[in-house]
Parts: sequence; C-alpha cells; structure tokens
Amino acid sequence: MRGVILPGREWVEWREFDRPEPGHGQVLVKMKASGLCGSDLRAIYHEHTGSGAERYQNVIAGHEPSGRVEAVGPGVGGFEPGDRVVVYHILGCGRCEECTKGFMIGCSSRERAAYGWQRDGGHADYLLAEARTLLHLPDELTYTDGALVACGFGTAYQGILRAGVSGRDTVLVVGLGPVGLGVVMLAASSGAEVIGVDLTPERLELAGKAGAAHVLMGGEDAAGEIMELTGGQGAEVALDCSGSAPGRLLCLETVRTWGRVVFLGEGGSVTFEPSPLLLHKQLTLHGSWVCGLHEMGQLLEHLARKGLNPETTVTHTFPLSETKQAYEAFDAGKTGKVVILLEDA
Ligand SMILES: [Zn+2]
Ligand SMILES: [Zn+2]
Repeated sequence: MRGVILPGREWVEWREFDRPEPGHGQVLVKMKASGLCGSDLRAIYHEHTGSGAERYQNVIAGHEPSGRVEAVGPGVGGFEPGDRVVVYHILGCGRCEECTKGFMIGCSSRERAAYGWQRDGGHADYLLAEARTLLHLPDELTYTDGALVACGFGTAYQGILRAGVSGRDTVLVVGLGPVGLGVVMLAASSGAEVIGVDLTPERLELAGKAGAAHVLMGGEDAAGEIMELTGGQGAEVALDCSGSAPGRLLCLETVRTWGRVVFLGEGGSVTFEPSPLLLHKQLTLHGSWVCGLHEMGQLLEHLARKGLNPETTVTHTFPLSETKQAYEAFDAGKTGKVVILLEDA
C-alpha cells in the first residue's frame, strides 16, 4: 500500500508499505478521507518542531482519518467489515485519569500515541487502528465529514461546550481557519448570533456560508465594529481560533462583563493586563484541547440530527497521489479545509 511521510522542509515523501494485518483488538480501515490540519503545518510540514504529544516520529502522516472497516482482528466487538468509521486520533493507555474520562488526548502515559504523529496515520491506502479509538460514522454524514470530525470539528465542538454556547449568546469567533469555521457552524446551529473575524477575504466568505451573521476584517477597527454590533456591550462568548496575540486580545477586549472566553488556537503567546481585561470584567477564560471520545460521539449525533455537513467548509480536495499539492495549497493560507480523498472512495 502507499503511504505519505512528511520529512520536514516542505517535503512530501512517498513510500510503499506492506498492508498491515489487524492484531488483537485492532481493525484495518480502508481509508476514504484524510484531512490536513493546521497542526501538521505548524509542527511537522515545515520543520519537526513538536515535542511531547506533538513529537512526529516519521510515521505515515495524517491525523484526521475516516474510512470503511476492511478487516477486524481477534477480540474486536462492535465493528464489522463494511462499517463506516471515524478515528479518534489518539490512542491512550486506557487507565490514567484522562483516559478513563475518554480524553485520550490528555493521556500522561508513555504508551500514548497519536495517529499521524507517533503511529501510522491516514495519508495512506489503509490504516491500522485500535478498535477503542473508532466511532461509527452516521449514514447522514460523508467520509469527508468524518475526517473533519476526527480533529478540527471535535476541537470546535469542545470549545462550544466549554463556553456553554446557547441561542441567547452573541458569539465572536476570531480566526476562521478550519477550526474557526467549525465553531461558526456549531455556534450558529445552536441558535447563537455569530460574528466572525479574519484577515483574509476568502475565509470571511466561508464563515458567512457556515452561518456567521456578521463577518469583519481584523485590524485596528475590528474592536470598535464588534462593540457597535453588540450595542456597546460586547459579545457574551469569544473564541480565539487564531492562536495569535492580537486575536486573543481582541477576544478579551470585546467580550462583555461576565463573558466567557475560550482559547482554541494553538501556538504563539500573549501578554495582557489581567486587572482591566480579566478580573474587573469578571471573565471566565478556558483553555481547550481537542475533545473526548464521548464528546466526539455526541458531535456526530448532533451533526446528523441537525443535517449539518462539515464538508461544506472544504474548499480543496486532492487524491492521495497529489498530497504534495494539497499541503502547498493549505500552506498558502487562503483555503478552507483541505482533504485528501482516496481515489476509489
Ligand atoms: Zn489536528
Ligand atoms: Zn492514559
């Protein structure tokens, strides 16, 4: 089978691998859709900058896999050949506190391994998965929807849950890359009035399609425009999906008193004065990292019930043989979500 390695310095390398045989508790998944994530660019594609959970070990890349069960190993219950599945992209030890909560993302064991980081991921014809990292993909959703849920939309959903978003809220979303667009779609589908902010017109347009009531260009005027849109009060909820200092500050500055702020965007740093921006405004500030297995299952159910398809945020698809072009397009920063579709999907 074919598989793609990301050696760094924008290289995309092809290799031939033996098709794996599922062992005890394992499932062989015929890959159908494999998403590209901002984390792949940030920590792998340019340079292998990650450490700990983000240390890339020259395995087959891609941590947003969705596909069809090809074969199951001994001891696997609940999955059969032909089943459509999403892969929760981190395998934890199953015993530590975070694992027992379903948050394998936060597993503290040395056994922890993420697909596409420390064990083979989705940019390949087949993926060898542990059955306990699989979720059934509802009939209403496509494989591309499934790939988006595996990381980006899961992350977006957890942000919505952390902030307790409801139809009473005006929700500011700063940074409209794939996660930001997911937040827009999920917040709007919860009945909230969504304001989206980004620096590229292409992404503002995508946010409008995803359900944002207002879209604004970032920059000096953004804070004033947000205050104007919210009657001078600010938004009840603000989620930063940009990972940038100005984006994070904009959230803190334009959320109203007693508001809730969630930092979802990875990387970078921020400096601010806690007294005027956090304490005196009585804010709640959450950090949020991906989601738990249970939340991912809940998200799949929510999407199916609401008739939502995350794939509407996808702007570019490529066959596996054009993975290099896929990364180049995504790296240019003007795309929505970029997904690799397996040729015979
Ligand atoms: Zn990711
Ligand atoms: Zn664990």
